[in-house]
Amino acid sequence: MANAIVDLRVLGVIGTGDFGLAISKRLLRAGYNVIIGSRFPEERDLAKRDQIFAGVDVVSIEECIKTATMLVFAIHKKHFNSLLEFQDILSGKVVIDVSNQDKRDRNESNAEYLASMFPQTCFVKAFNVVSAYNMENIGYCTEEKRVYVASDNPEVRHVICEMVKLLGFVPVDMGRLRMSRGIEKMPIRLFSGWGGSFLITLLIFVVWFIYAVFKFYVRMKIYDGAQFPLKVLNKPICMTAITLLAITYLPSSVAGMTQIYYGTRHKRFPRWLDKWLKARKSLGIIALFLIFIHVMMSTLTMGPTYYPDFYVFKSILLSTNKSELFLYQPGWMLWQAETAMFLGIIALMLLLILGLTAIPSVAHTLNWREWRFVQSGCGHVALFFCIAHAIFRGLPNWAKATKKVHVLDSLAFLAVIIPVLTLLFKLFMIMPCIANHLHKIRQGFDREDSMDSKEESTSKSHDRKKFRRKKKSKERDVFTHPPVADLQDIP
Ligand code: NAP
Repeated sequence: MANAIVDLRVLGVIGTGDFGLAISKRLLRAGYNVIIGSRFPEERDLAKRDQIFAGVDVVSIEECIKTATMLVFAIHKKHFNSLLEFQDILSGKVVIDVSNQDKRDRNESNAEYLASMFPQTCFVKAFNVVSAYNMENIGYCTEEKRVYVASDNPEVRHVICEMVKLLGFVPVDMGRLRMSRGIEKMPIRLFSGWGGSFLITLLIFVVWFIYAVFKFYVRMKIYDGAQFPLKVLNKPICMTAITLLAITYLPSSVAGMTQIYYGTRHKRFPRWLDKWLKARKSLGIIALFLIFIHVMMSTLTMGPTYYPDFYVFKSILLSTNKSELFLYQPGWMLWQAETAMFLGIIALMLLLILGLTAIPSVAHTLNWREWRFVQSGCGHVALFFCIAHAIFRGLPNWAKATKKVHVLDSLAFLAVIIPVLTLLFKLFMIMPCIANHLHKIRQGFDREDSMDSKEESTSKSHDRKKFRRKKKSKERDVFTHPPVADLQDIP
């Protein structure tokens, strides 16, 4: 491995593709002296494409490598072999590899592959997580975008981290080049960490869906196929949403309880709880997404035909020649229904605030207390409003409950069971005696340590008492019997 002396004066970028040009522009804007290497330098009139390239030299790859001390390889892995002919002149240079994997390679990263091809060159993995578009367009210091840096040379890593900062990104020093395996996987991950949340959503949805279909189509037979896409599907969607919202807030109370049980904050949570805690963001976002669908579906179907239990019906008597006919005319909404709508709107607005503050650029503007207030405080209040919305939604039906229509099997009632338990659990956790104890644990109190020190202090006080007793008895001995030596001294 070359112990390169880093000179930032001339930076060579090999490749005039999307990424090569994007990083060149960024480097030029940051004040670097850039030289661009291409297989066809005479054909690359870059100044015509962008004025920023006016005065920038586009040279052959060989000349670029010879001129620059530090290089960026903005080419695809499949073309790395074409650079083998420059092995000698690459010796002692620092090369930033920005490549991403075209095919997944579990055993070796592109950067490690390059390092094995050019053993005398110092390779750094960086910038691969930034797209060419973001490299060119993302604002400076307005958005935080992390750039992961890995290299076997710590000095070079430091220099590249400084360069990352100058380009307006946030460097993350990942350590040795081996770490590039993980760094190269980052841009090709699809919703990493969301798998469990999607699976749980699907499971909950399937349960509520089967229940709703069974209830509406098999037991009550009140709807036909035409009402399936909006009226029927709306039920499992809103029930899944409120259940997901509840299980987004449940793990924080479970975690608190676990810490109280362990008596310390230093013991690791069980794996399932750790995963559950980490899945809160994705669960909350999926819940918010489903709530929006529910709101749109309900708005489209809101009317006396779809929701007869929400409206007051006036009967109009029509007397005809032969008979009397009652005509039912829908009037205003019932107060329970209006209240349900109002509570639903408040819940939606609170959830909207929650969703917005989860966006990194917004989250970064909040301090720790504000973040906690919104995410935990507003979240639980939003859950409360969702529960209240569902209860008021169910009230008109529950009032008419008969033997045939039980409150217990109403969808609104079933939907609020888990959320209500979640809120009750939270209320229990914020009771002063519990909350204060948990606060103490989170501040570093350790039950075992305190028991040990208690035992120690009691054993110390025991020792002290013993010592005092011994001393007293000795004093008594001295007083009652003369010392042995004294006795011996007596002739
Ligand atoms: P690209 O548009 O296809 O450009 C690749 C460039 O490589 C070509 O323009 C070519 O420039 C140069 N090259 C050198 N030797 C070559 C050879 N033997 N055959 C063909 N081309 C050769 O690709 P890109 O999008 O800029 O991506 C470049 C690297 O950046 C890739 O490793 C990619 O994984 C990485 N990356 C890209 C993005 C992105 O958003 N595009 C984001 C992160 C990382 P000349 O014709 O001037 O020689």
